[in-house]
Amino acid sequence: MQTNLPQDLLDTVSGKRADEILRACVHCGFCNATCPTYQLLGDELDGPRGRIYLIKGMLETGTGHSTVQTHLDRCLTCRACEPSCPSGVAYGELLEIGRDTLARHRRRPLLERLTRVALVHVVSRPALFRILVRLGAWIRWALPERLRGLLPAAPAGIRERSPREVVDVKRRVVVLEGCVQRVATPASNAALRRLLQDNDIGVLEISGEQCCGGLALHLGQTERAHQSMRRNIAALVGAGDGGETILSSASGCGVTVKDYGRLLAEDPLWSRKARRVAERTLDVAEFVDREQLRLRRDARFTRVAWQAPCTLQHGQGISGTVEGLLERAGYQLLPVAEPDACCGSAGSYAALQPEISQALRERKLTALLALEPDVIATANVGCQMHLGAATDVPVLHWLELVTGRP
Ligand code: SF4
Ligand code: SF4
Repeated sequence: MQTNLPQDLLDTVSGKRADEILRACVHCGFCNATCPTYQLLGDELDGPRGRIYLIKGMLETGTGHSTVQTHLDRCLTCRACEPSCPSGVAYGELLEIGRDTLARHRRRPLLERLTRVALVHVVSRPALFRILVRLGAWIRWALPERLRGLLPAAPAGIRERSPREVVDVKRRVVVLEGCVQRVATPASNAALRRLLQDNDIGVLEISGEQCCGGLALHLGQTERAHQSMRRNIAALVGAGDGGETILSSASGCGVTVKDYGRLLAEDPLWSRKARRVAERTLDVAEFVDREQLRLRRDARFTRVAWQAPCTLQHGQGISGTVEGLLERAGYQLLPVAEPDACCGSAGSYAALQPEISQALRERKLTALLALEPDVIATANVGCQMHLGAATDVPVLHWLELVTGRP
């Protein structure tokens, strides 16, 4: 694709990078075939190729009009378009630059601004989010559908008792608890600790873990996102000096932490530490698979429908690993149709784009429930809450299925 970005933009790192990405696109449109919003809405501007054109126009003219905002807001950041691109266009990275540019060029109406700031402030602060979740549990029945999916289906904010600390261990790891996960689905973190204990692996406790920054990043609040990342890195770098592996069990957080090196590459004070943290981080599935940890089946369930979060399969490029672990634990994996399809959760998307989000969830649940599973397994707290709000079939983190009953 030919580009004509202004020289002052090309002189910046992000402008130069945007130009490289844009030039790699040959506008073939193969990416549209795997884009959930294009499939649902059928509008070229709601597919990756159209959005790439919109971002190109914005960067070339230095103006962000309402059409750009509408169609960039509708993007789920699922990155399902990336694997289907023959030219290797880094769409997710371009979208980040596009959203950041848009946020600087275009002021949203007051209510939208407040909603977006509140989402980041409340959801990324466990103490505040816990209060909201407890309140939500009382008035859940009265909440509109768009908000119900953001709150856990079970009585919330209850911390599961962690297993006793392992003293005699061969090694230790650092566990990222996640700001939303530790409040909304504490059973996931408790399951991970049980699994580690079962395998004589200790947990190196960290204090000061912060939001990974992913939520603010997706909303175009780049500086706020970078601040969260720096605080998180400070906590993680301080956690031991043995270079212990950092485990992430919420794939939406893992995809961001693994990208810290790129995201803070221009920060002279933090780039090296950011790279180091990113290199030490693994999704828990990679770790369990690599270390061949002992797994136990939960006898309540046999037939499992697996929902692969976009942040796991497209963002982190991990496909087939959890499925293999569930089978090794003794479960029957059901062949779910359209396994690449997004469930529509996408972080704050479910609250900001409720119609598209719910339409995608309906389609996903139809596929997941078609073969009558005992349980739906997933790897991200957002997907778990979003799907769980619309079905009576239990939706659990896969870790809960491989650690036996608590
Ligand atoms: S598939 Fe890749 S090269 Fe083709 S239009 Fe999409 S982003 Fe551009
Ligand atoms: S990230 Fe997802 S929703 Fe956005 S353009 Fe790519 S495939 Fe479509």
